[in-house]
Amino acid sequence: MTNRRDWLHVVGSSFFCASAMEARIGNANAATTPEAPLPLAEYEPRSMLHVRETEVPRARYAVIDVHTHLSWSAKSENGVALAAKRQFPSTPAELLPVMDRKNLRALVNLTGGYGDGLREAIATYDKAHPGRFYTFTEPSYSQLFEPNYPKLQADAIGAAHAAGAPGLKILKTLGLFLRENITSGKLVRVDDARFDPMWDACGQLNMPVAIHVSDPVAFFTPTDRFNERYEELHNHPDWSFFDHDFPSNAELLDARNRVIARHPKTQFVVLHVGNFAENLENVSEALDRFPNMTIDIAARVGELGRQPRTARKFFDKYQDRILFGTDATPHGKEVPQQYFSDRLYEIYFRFLETEDEYFDYAPAKIPPQGRWRIYGIGLPDQILRKVYNENAARLLRINI
Ligand SMILES: [Zn+2]
Repeated sequence: MTNRRDWLHVVGSSFFCASAMEARIGNANAATTPEAPLPLAEYEPRSMLHVRETEVPRARYAVIDVHTHLSWSAKSENGVALAAKRQFPSTPAELLPVMDRKNLRALVNLTGGYGDGLREAIATYDKAHPGRFYTFTEPSYSQLFEPNYPKLQADAIGAAHAAGAPGLKILKTLGLFLRENITSGKLVRVDDARFDPMWDACGQLNMPVAIHVSDPVAFFTPTDRFNERYEELHNHPDWSFFDHDFPSNAELLDARNRVIARHPKTQFVVLHVGNFAENLENVSEALDRFPNMTIDIAARVGELGRQPRTARKFFDKYQDRILFGTDATPHGKEVPQQYFSDRLYEIYFRFLETEDEYFDYAPAKIPPQGRWRIYGIGLPDQILRKVYNENAARLLRINI
């Protein structure tokens, strides 16, 4: 027996089918018929939304970008940098015009390395253009298995400081790539005691430690239909830390927290929004617990901008502990969210300075970190100044 509601439903459906058919016939020129599945990689929807679009060609206040990569190791194996020698993807002459146009007072080059490579990077950037570039040192892991490594590494921090490095950078190598035999064996933990003298040396010399631990949490889950960063992981399969012998995201962050707790006199800049921009509650808890922790926002406007109300409150509460950073890499075309360019900086400025809605977080046809768009948080002048330069200037002990 058919009741009246079912009957209406059937009539309704067939009416819909007839209309859809007419639409198809009327649209015979379309390149793709609605029946043909469209491959995800070819899908480039254009927003039909009419909302305000603010151009921000220049930051309202001078900026210190605390997170760029202007040099890196000439040799690495299995994710571990193995050479003091540096590669330079760019020259100051290429970078300075962009910096002047965008109101970037200084760039911090985090991957300066150690030894002769560090000295060359400092000569090329910092000393050639005082006040415009600051190059951090990095640990040398190649002597890790030597019994006096802890002291050697602590002494190397002193030598780097004497050479002009204002801080130390730790890549995610520690925790995810470095192994007992450097490139093989068991993974070395972030809170391995062999590094304790190094963290202490940084505290004694007032050198902040810019530390990257873990990665977006989606990188620790399977690369499947449920993964919100599916296309990114599909394009970079080696970015996945799911399975194998990798620790979980939570284990990595716990080990990092133990290091920060053990070295209260050392300042830690936990990069990429404390490496957990997807969970600002977690980052807030860590900031509340550790007065010696600050964060940068590098490569995470995509995360912050998709939760604009939570992010705005977060900036209010932690306005003295958030640093401007981008992860900018000259010629880094395969990572649009890091590609050093005018466009990259304009997106960051728009996110921080305006209340524009639903715009791209990276200069790319397809959002590279996940298919969503972002909303500006329109920070007031007083917070903008702190984030753009005051917090970094205080930490690096420089005048702006
Ligand atoms: Zn980086």
